[in-house]
Amino acid sequence: MSTTSDRLVLATRNAGKIVELRRILADASVPVEIIGLEEFPEIGDVAETGLTFAENALLKAHAVAQSAGLPAIADDSGVCVDALNGMPGIFSARWSGRHGDDVANLNLLLAQVSDVPPEHRGAHFACAAALALPSGEERVAEGVLPGLIVDAPRGTNGFGYDPIFVPEGESRTIAELSAAEKNAISHRGRAFRALAPVLAEMIS
Ligand code: IMP
Repeated sequence: MSTTSDRLVLATRNAGKIVELRRILADASVPVEIIGLEEFPEIGDVAETGLTFAENALLKAHAVAQSAGLPAIADDSGVCVDALNGMPGIFSARWSGRHGDDVANLNLLLAQVSDVPPEHRGAHFACAAALALPSGEERVAEGVLPGLIVDAPRGTNGFGYDPIFVPEGESRTIAELSAAEKNAISHRGRAFRALAPVLAEMIS
């Protein structure tokens, strides 16, 4: 199975994600040009109606691959808290009810785990990265970053739940790590790196 395209759309308007994927594919020697959704203003947002990160990533990747007529990669991610049975999970971006309100989402999560003792504060970030071709072929890779939820925000880097998440083996929250330190261990970096050889095979 292969495609002759040397251009690939990353289904995001987030410039940081494009830079990160370009670097990962360059490191993996995958000769493909990554373009973002800003080159396709006619493509609207895709409803995330799936029940898993992989389903949502595939929905977005297929929609963009069909509209753009090019291979497309999409990712979906979130934080999964053991004491909340894996929630917020796929609802991470809208946990407080308003999509993308990072401060409200973080504060609600902190309030919900306020009585949970340190030994039960386990959590992980999860990311599914999906690749879809205009032909309908698809692949998914997943990445996980285990850690725990602390009881007060620390640090100013990153976004979302970074200020309350300490990765396994670290004492700093992700918001106290540099961007390079985060990219080296992040769930998204791990998912993209796992997808790179799959992509290399599909475009060869
Ligand atoms: P998305 O899949 O990139 O849209 O992320 C969904 C939501 O999960 C974000 O709005 C954040 O709340 C949370 N999230 C995903 N990845 C991260 C991360 O690396 N740090 C902090 N929060 C994240």
